[in-house]
Amino acid sequence: MKNLWNDADAEKMVADYARKGVGRDLALRVYTTRLLGGEPRLVLHGGGNTSCKTRATDLVGDEWDVLCVKGSGWDMAVIEPQGLPAVKMGALLKARGLERLSDEDMVALQRSNLIDPASPNPSVETLLHAFLPHKFVDHTHSTAILAIVDQEDSEALVGKVFGGKMGYVPYIKPGFDLAKVAAEVFDAGRNVEGLILDKHGIFTFGDDARQAYDRMIHYVTVAEDYVAKNGTPKTAKAALPAKLAKASDIAPMLRGAVAVARGEGRFDRMISDFRTSDAIVDFINSAKIADYAGRGVSTPDLSIRIKTGPMAVPAPDADKLGDYKAVIRGHVEAFAKDYRAYFESNDALDDVKRIMLDPMPRLTLVPGLGMFGHGRTLKDAKIASDVGEMWIEAVRGAEAIGNFQPLSKADLFPLEYWSLEQAKLAANKPKPLTGQVVLITGGAGAIGAATAKLFAANGAHAVIVDLDPAKAAEAAKAAGNNSIGVGADITNPAEMRAAFDKAVAVYGGVDILVSNAGAAWEGRIGELDDATLRKSFELNFFAHQSAAQNAVRIMLEQGTGGVLLFNTSKQAVNPGPKFGAYGLPKAATLFLSRQYALDYGAHGIRSNAVNADRIRSGLLTDTMIASRSGARGVSEKEYMSGNLLGQEVTADDVAQAFLHQALAERTTADVTTVDGGNIAAALR
Ligand SMILES: [Zn+2]
Repeated sequence: MKNLWNDADAEKMVADYARKGVGRDLALRVYTTRLLGGEPRLVLHGGGNTSCKTRATDLVGDEWDVLCVKGSGWDMAVIEPQGLPAVKMGALLKARGLERLSDEDMVALQRSNLIDPASPNPSVETLLHAFLPHKFVDHTHSTAILAIVDQEDSEALVGKVFGGKMGYVPYIKPGFDLAKVAAEVFDAGRNVEGLILDKHGIFTFGDDARQAYDRMIHYVTVAEDYVAKNGTPKTAKAALPAKLAKASDIAPMLRGAVAVARGEGRFDRMISDFRTSDAIVDFINSAKIADYAGRGVSTPDLSIRIKTGPMAVPAPDADKLGDYKAVIRGHVEAFAKDYRAYFESNDALDDVKRIMLDPMPRLTLVPGLGMFGHGRTLKDAKIASDVGEMWIEAVRGAEAIGNFQPLSKADLFPLEYWSLEQAKLAANKPKPLTGQVVLITGGAGAIGAATAKLFAANGAHAVIVDLDPAKAAEAAKAAGNNSIGVGADITNPAEMRAAFDKAVAVYGGVDILVSNAGAAWEGRIGELDDATLRKSFELNFFAHQSAAQNAVRIMLEQGTGGVLLFNTSKQAVNPGPKFGAYGLPKAATLFLSRQYALDYGAHGIRSNAVNADRIRSGLLTDTMIASRSGARGVSEKEYMSGNLLGQEVTADDVAQAFLHQALAERTTADVTTVDGGNIAAALR
C-alpha cells in the first residue's frame, strides 16, 4: 500500500488550521485521518477511528490533558477537527481500574468528560485509544489484515507474518472489555508497534502522527505481501448458462423480492445499486460463492451495512427468465428465515429488549453479472455495494492463503444489536416515500419540477424525463435526494423505454409514474388539419399510454404494486373553445387512467388522474396570460384567480394533489380537481 504522507501537505494543513485556532497536534491528526479514510482497503463509510493525546482549554480557562478521538457519525475521509471531540484523559484512565462498565455507562462517562458538551459521541473504541500510552493511535479494518485474522489459526499466523512486532488481541466486542484486554496485551510486550485484533482489524501507534501512519501503511503492506506471496487464488468456477440474462432484466424482480411486506399490499421498498467489474465477477463466479457468503462479514462493523453477510443467487439464464423470479424469491425467503432464526436464538440468551431489524439481505451476489447493494436510499445501497467490494477483497485474500473463517454469527449478534445502534435506528424515521422511485415526464416544466421537488422532499428518488436534457438535469439538481435527469422525446417509444431503463439501471426499478408531459395546439375542430390532431394525440395520449405500459411492465416484475398518475387537465371533462386538439386526447387519457385502474388493480397497481387548470407553466406562459386577460378585459390577477375560490392555482398545488394520490394507498380510479373551483368542469 502506497504511503501518501507528504511534508508540504502536512505543513499546509497545520498552517491552515492554525489560522482557525486549531493546534498542530489536532491538525496533523486530521491530516493522517483523512489519508487513512480515503483508502477503501483500510476503512469505509464511518468505519475505523483515530486519536491523539493533547491539551485543551475549557470555557473557564482551565487546561486539561485530553484525548481527541473520532466522533460517532464522522467519516474519516472528510473529518474536521470538530469530528475529533476532546475528552478529559483523567477520567478515561481511571476507568481502567473498574471491574466492569456497561456500554451505556461508558457512553455516559465519555460524554460527561467532553470539553464541548455539544460534541458527537466519542467512538466506542475511545477507551482502547486512551489506555494506550502513545500520543497518536490509528485504527483501521484493512482488508489484507482481515485476510490474515479471518482464519481458524489466526494467532499463529499473526506471529508468523508480523514476528513480535505486533501484539495479538483475541476477539472481544468493542467497548470496555476489549479496551482492557488490548491494554494488557500492550503492557505484556511494550516494544510492539501495533496490535492485531482477531476477526476485526489493526491498531498502530506512535509518538507523532507520521509514525503511527507510517506503521499502519507498513504493516498493512506486510500483510498484503504475505497474501500475494503465499496465496494461491482458488480457481474452481461454477458453470454459467450459455446465455446470461442482463442485470436490467433481473433488477426489478430482485428489488421486489427484497422489499419488506407490511401486509395488505403495503411495502417498505429498497433501492438497488448494481455494481460490476472483472474482479467482482471473477470472484462471484467461484463454485463456492454461496458457501463464502454464508460464512458472514469480514469484520463485525460491516454488519451495520450488510447484516450477517451477502446473499448469493444462481446465475440467471436468459432463456429461463420466466422462472427466475421464483428462484430469487426462494433465496430471499431462505435468507430472511435464517436471519429470523439468528435473531431469535441469540435474542433468547438474555433479557435485553431488542427490536428485530428487517430480515432482508443488503447485498446480492449474482454469478456472471456482479452484485446489487440494497438500501432504503440510493446512498445506503451504494454503501452496501462499496462494502461488498471490500468483503470480496478480504475473502479472496483469506481463501488464497487458507480458509475464510470470520467472526461467528453468535459473536456478531451483540454488535449488530448493540443498544446504542438500536437507539440510533429508532431515531432515524423514514419519510413517507423513502425507498420509492418516481418517474416524471415533462419533469423540467413548472408542474413536473414542482412535483419532483415535493416527492424528493418526501423521500422518493425522482427520474426527471424531459425533452431538454440540460433542463432535466437542472430540475433533478433542484429536486435533490440523488434524483436524476434524463433527456428523451417521449413520443418515440425507444426513447421512452430508454428513460425507464435508466431508472432501473440507477435505482433498480420504478414505483410511481407521474405522466405529466403535454402541449396544446389550438384551432376550431372542424377546420383542424389531421396532422395537428394526430401530433397532439401522440404526446397527449400515446405518450401517456407508452409511459404507463413501461411502468406497469416494471411494476409487475417487482410485484410490489405501484401507482400511475396522469395529468389530464380540466380539458378532459370541460372543453375550451378552439382547444379540441388538446381536449380530445386528454379525455382519452382520463379514460386510459380508469382502464389501468380496472385492469391492474388486482396487482396492487393504482391509477389516478389530476385535472388541473390555469397554472402558470410552459402551456400557459406569462405572454399568453397577458393576451387572454386582455381579450377578456380583466386584469392578469383576475384572470388567474377566476375560479370559485378567487385564488390563483399554482404548480405546487398540483404537486400536492399528485403527492396525495401517491400516498393514498386505498385510492384508485380517482380524479382530483385542482382548479380553485370551476363548476362547469366539476365531475359528476
Ligand atoms: Zn474497529
